[in-house]
Amino acid sequence: MARPTASAPARTALIEAEHVSKSFPSADGPVLHVLDDVSVTLHEGEVVALLGKSGSGKSTLLRTLAGLIAPSDGEVRYRGMPLDGANPGAAMVFQSFALMPWLTVQDNVELGLRAAGVPEKQRRERALDAIDQIGLDGFETAYPRELSGGMRQRVGFARALVLQPDVLLMDEPFSALDVLTSENLRGELISLWAQPDFPTKCICIVTHDIEEAVLLADRVLVLGSGPGHIKAEVPILLPRPRDRRSPTFDQAVDRLYAILTGRDERSDAERAATPGPLTHPLPDASVGGLAGLIEIVYSHGGQADLPDLADELSFHVDDLLPLVDAARMLRLLEVEGAQAFLTDVGRDWYTADILRSKEVFATLAVEHAPLVATIIKALHNSDGGALRDDFFRDLLHRGFSAEDTEKQLDIAIAWGRYGELFDYDANTGELVLSEVAAALTALLMDGDTGVGS
Ligand code: ADP
Ligand code: MG
Repeated sequence: MARPTASAPARTALIEAEHVSKSFPSADGPVLHVLDDVSVTLHEGEVVALLGKSGSGKSTLLRTLAGLIAPSDGEVRYRGMPLDGANPGAAMVFQSFALMPWLTVQDNVELGLRAAGVPEKQRRERALDAIDQIGLDGFETAYPRELSGGMRQRVGFARALVLQPDVLLMDEPFSALDVLTSENLRGELISLWAQPDFPTKCICIVTHDIEEAVLLADRVLVLGSGPGHIKAEVPILLPRPRDRRSPTFDQAVDRLYAILTGRDERSDAERAATPGPLTHPLPDASVGGLAGLIEIVYSHGGQADLPDLADELSFHVDDLLPLVDAARMLRLLEVEGAQAFLTDVGRDWYTADILRSKEVFATLAVEHAPLVATIIKALHNSDGGALRDDFFRDLLHRGFSAEDTEKQLDIAIAWGRYGELFDYDANTGELVLSEVAAALTALLMDGDTGVGS
């Protein structure tokens, strides 16, 4: 591409975030630390990807750069000017499109210009240009509900591009679209960016998709979780157009994969002396999904390259991440770089008969899944081995948002039920200890629940 490269001298800084932290107070008091001391500079001429697992604070960081959220600490500047409200040099594209359903395509695209007080004639012309540029001509008078997901996101793009922003900020803009549509739209974005007269000078895209980051970015900032922080910065020096099938592309994916899943000194999980439900959340994995992953690694002779595995399954590598994290937490797999190895206990779990399988899983969950252990212990110490789910909800609220609290409970209940550790009555909201669990509790009694640690 004809633009200055990331390493060109005297790169102009467009947006700078300096030592940005962000906390959200929750309704019942405790504070959620979402970003911790994040510094990011977006320069003229570059495409930057913010890559991180779900919940690592990517959207929060992007909204902070857009001036839609004020940092709790630190500063965000646009061309050297501290932000006080929406960033005048940026436009956003959202994952959910966020279109006004009662407005036509044309009116949706004109919305930002109207807000900026651009006169009607000029507004019309600029909107028509943007609509044309992004392949929406003929749909000017259509309403969002009449459009496919791909076409709606084109409106989302047109609405941002019509503002001719210095910086285009995009929050997982392709992740709600099917594979073919998203690949098309990605290609068109790359072509637009390569045009010498494209007015936007920098693109910053949030993604949890490693391949998307390697495909699009000149530089990838990897976010670590708990609380969100910059874990690594990786320049992607591959020539364009980029080929997903080239060995150098694979190498970059493997490298990012290893960073994303590797040790992280700054995360609470790695710092905590005792793993607890708040510091070591359960990865979002079903038992069926786990069994599938283990089966595949087993059928590869007990060792597999994770990005290759994902390819074979027509998954994105990152779709595997929660499964791999769960398998590691339960010691079913070990991971080095991008290689996964089946452990002895993983093999045992996979090859045993169903009863033995459940037993193995129950033991692993009680030993290594902090929230499951906490539930078992609390039930053990309660009258009659039963407690309302609200009890655990209250504990979890001290470290998670309402949504994540429900997610954590759901996962723990699914794992616990499969291992026949406890049962859950969704009508009464009651968790009841099983006999298996009562026997297993001896394993735990010397440990701490970790809640509140
Ligand atoms: P990502 O985009 O990487 O998935 P987010 O930035 O959306 O991460 O969220 C990071 C964490 O912050 C999550 O635990 C989320 O629940 C929490 N969070 C995000 N926005 C808010 C908010 N407005 N209030 C409370 N918690 C929030
Ligand atoms: Mg997000």
